[in-house]
Amino acid sequence: MSSSTGQAQEPWDGGWLRQAIRLPSPNFGPRPAQALIDLIVVHSISLPPGQYGGEGVQALFTNRLDWDAHPYFEQIRGLEVSSHFYIRRDGALWQFVSCDDRAWHAGRSHYRGRDNCNDDSIGIELEGLEGDTFEPAQYQALADLCQALCARYPIAHLAGHEHIAPGRKLDPGPGFDWRLLQTLLGLPSQCFP
Ligand SMILES: [Zn+2]
Repeated sequence: MSSSTGQAQEPWDGGWLRQAIRLPSPNFGPRPAQALIDLIVVHSISLPPGQYGGEGVQALFTNRLDWDAHPYFEQIRGLEVSSHFYIRRDGALWQFVSCDDRAWHAGRSHYRGRDNCNDDSIGIELEGLEGDTFEPAQYQALADLCQALCARYPIAHLAGHEHIAPGRKLDPGPGFDWRLLQTLLGLPSQCFP
């Protein structure tokens, strides 16, 4: 609702959500013409894996990660990836790529009868680890974000990276509570994996 002092601010600035901490990534490109952006892909990530609270993910998505800073980083040296959003353990929301552009989070993938899910999906990374659980603040931030996305894009599906790249990816994993997300969003079960 608008306050007595004026109208509530429009939540979106083009494809950027105003409430998110904005850190532009160079890792993106245009979406195909007429892309139907109807899929939200949920991921989990932490760098190094299982260590929370650092700045490694933001560094990775902006090509600033020091590959020599940890032995694990050798496995991903030179990787150029991004996602539209990142939700920290405390619910803090970051955005790296405009939702109108194509982020590089899905890789080889297939879902709802279409290949190359990067073309027409929104990628959301949760700070976490496949197999670990997620924080209530993350579910709330994720639900709020999904509602904002549903208001701007014709979202009809939400799935995990594990569902769009089965056998290749495992995130967000069995510790992610899809039923809780469905309850928070009030969407029918056919929208979920
Ligand atoms: Zn993933």
